[in-house]
Amino acid sequence: GGAIEIYEQLIKSNEKYDVPCTVTLEKEPHDKSIGIKKSGCHGFCEMGPLVRIEPQGWLYIKVKPEDCAEIIEKSIINETFIERLAYKKEGVMYPTQEEIPFYKKQTRLALEHCGHIDATSINEYLAIGGYGAFTKALFDMSQEDVVKEIDLSNLRGRGGGGYPTGRKWKQVKGQNSSVKYIVCNGDEGDPGAFMDRSIMEGDPHRVLEGMMIAGVGCGSAEGYIYVRAEYPLAVSRLETAIGEAKERGLLGRNILSSGFDFDIKICKGAGAFVCGEGSALTASIEGKRGMPRVKPPRTVEHGLFDKPTVLNNVETFANVPFIIHKGAKWYKAIGPENSPGTKAFALTGNIENTGLIEVPMGTTLGEVIFDIGGGMRGGHEFKAVQIGGPSGGCLTKEQLDLPLDFDSLKKAGAMIGSGGLVVMDEHTCMVEVARFFMNFTQNESCGKCIPCREGTKRMLEILDRIVSGQGVIEDLDMLLELADTISATALCGLGKTAALPVVSTIRNFREEYEAHIVEKR
Ligand code: SF4
Repeated sequence: GGAIEIYEQLIKSNEKYDVPCTVTLEKEPHDKSIGIKKSGCHGFCEMGPLVRIEPQGWLYIKVKPEDCAEIIEKSIINETFIERLAYKKEGVMYPTQEEIPFYKKQTRLALEHCGHIDATSINEYLAIGGYGAFTKALFDMSQEDVVKEIDLSNLRGRGGGGYPTGRKWKQVKGQNSSVKYIVCNGDEGDPGAFMDRSIMEGDPHRVLEGMMIAGVGCGSAEGYIYVRAEYPLAVSRLETAIGEAKERGLLGRNILSSGFDFDIKICKGAGAFVCGEGSALTASIEGKRGMPRVKPPRTVEHGLFDKPTVLNNVETFANVPFIIHKGAKWYKAIGPENSPGTKAFALTGNIENTGLIEVPMGTTLGEVIFDIGGGMRGGHEFKAVQIGGPSGGCLTKEQLDLPLDFDSLKKAGAMIGSGGLVVMDEHTCMVEVARFFMNFTQNESCGKCIPCREGTKRMLEILDRIVSGQGVIEDLDMLLELADTISATALCGLGKTAALPVVSTIRNFREEYEAHIVEKR
């Protein structure tokens, strides 16, 4: 029976969501039955579909439906490790998931439970101490203490800007308004980024708990999660989690007889990249066209429905319960002083181990690419990595020792962004890369302001011209001049950062642009 269920589980998950499926099998301690969990992603995407056996921590990779019966028979019933299916590298066998180099250098906080708990069961979340931080904030801490703890932790927003979360919460708490909102940005749209999606799919209660703590601290009774409709599994898991939390009296009116009310609604976005920008996102929730507006006023003063609003992304909220539970001092001990904690990155491109990772801030680019990512695919040479999606920049092999944190990346002319890392080898044409990202931002420009609407179009035309062999050397100066103008005058972050991939590739790979121009003449 178990084998058939797993078989169905694998097939169904793959068919419905078109993603590799992750299943965790657990032997019930008191009888011979086997539990199957619909767990979230383990992060080791390159090796999927994955099956993890609990409690041994065995991880089987690239599992096919026909392997399932053997997994049940040997691993669960006879408790025999199946070497054939386990992860093996250069003759080294790694019997537990945690010993695999891909996982060993990681510190998984926001992703801690992804792949380990049943994301559709509040009981599992409660069993591992879930909602403990919320009840601590609700019953054992004052509003001031909740906000102060987040402020002391120096948690910086994981959505890209790195703005201090505690400062934002303080600003909202201090607003003289009886209505305030807590909004979670799950509109992850960078090409190659899927951190927030995995957290929403694998540990949805953690996101809700982070928002609920923000509600307690800032005096808000209502939250919204803005999630893109292209993430159907994330939407369905969040819906289930909200329903379960309501049934247990953890959401709704007079929560746990405390007198505190808090409810969370889901708002599905239609997939416009610009709706990740705060004012466009709140406009979209209000049913208006998702377009950024001039600031000030800021979202903390006049946000959703013109009320003070805390707007943080999924990963930021997922860090909050830890900080309340273990304290700001504990959190600050991870990573550098000014960028504490961990960061989740989506590793994609020409790398051995593509997948989702989480490392302490300050981990170097080289450690991520070679120790965790396993180096370049096919033994090719590392050339560059695009960090932070279309708003980010390109880092080269001279920057492999660069610590990945907000300030170091800013100094290097790049940004963490939401955490997409697209790794490229020596066969990649950097002019094509710049054109790809410019094409993306041009398509996604909402058109409200001229510098972004027209400027990105002109830059794309020039890049097209260069790639097709019609470019002239003066085009490079024109690209840089346009980039300066757009970044200085565009209304929102999308426009302000749109030219970064072009600027950083011209700075680091000018000879490739020149080769296109010279060769094709
Ligand atoms: Fe719209 Fe671009 Fe202007 Fe932002 S910068 S408001 S995306 S046109």
